[in-house]
Amino acid sequence: MTNPTLEAIELRKIYQTPTEEIVVLESVSFSMNAGENLAIVGPSGSGKSTLLQILGTLDAPTSGTVRIGGQDPYQLNDNQQARFRNERIGFIFQDHHLLPQWNVLENTLLPALATGKPSIEIRNRAVALLERVGLKHRLSHLPSQLSGGERERVAVARALVLKPMIVLADEPTGNLDQQSAENVARLLLEVPKEENTVLIVVTHSTSLAAQMQKRYELYNRQLIQVA
Ligand code: ADP
Ligand code: MG
Repeated sequence: MTNPTLEAIELRKIYQTPTEEIVVLESVSFSMNAGENLAIVGPSGSGKSTLLQILGTLDAPTSGTVRIGGQDPYQLNDNQQARFRNERIGFIFQDHHLLPQWNVLENTLLPALATGKPSIEIRNRAVALLERVGLKHRLSHLPSQLSGGERERVAVARALVLKPMIVLADEPTGNLDQQSAENVARLLLEVPKEENTVLIVVTHSTSLAAQMQKRYELYNRQLIQVA
């Protein structure tokens, strides 16, 4: 038996504000093997983004353990952790977070630029991913020249460019019309499946959630498997 790619063990998150403690997550535990995908649904404010940030090594849990590829990223020092995040985790956000002054290819290569000039292999992979998401003819366009669905597809390509172990998507189709949302969802599911990447998608879309292997709901601070 190989280790799970991702393990969350008894995660608890408390936000301390000047006036009160907000307990957002309590006893959240689950694990995922390579190539598995999971949808997380739940009402606004239930802690979905908080959970993705904890899993994505962006914000430590108050207690509990995250293991990615057998390693606890919160045991690493800041530099090691930033590098770990960049190499192992791909993020996709609702509002894409593309840099406005950079073109489609440059935005896709962003994770690779953190460690210097991208290799020819990574550049080729970026172009291939952009071709895959239907944007090959748009490589030198700026984000402002794209539709919302196209921008989100660039964000999908960017998240995948370094072949991460885990892709985390936070309401990736939330701002899109139905047709664009379906396109983005299809691409988002396909490539990780082929490359054995763990995929977690926070979504309000029942049709996207229905296409995923497992569905969990965040409710009352707990993560519960739903049908
Ligand atoms: P969701 O993504 O499900 O809408 P979030 O994870 O963004 O929920 O937020 C969960 C709860 O935690 C909300 O009540 C929110 O106000 C609170 N929260 C989120 N981030 C912070 C923070 N940095 N400080 C204090 N409270 C926060
Ligand atoms: Mg959120």
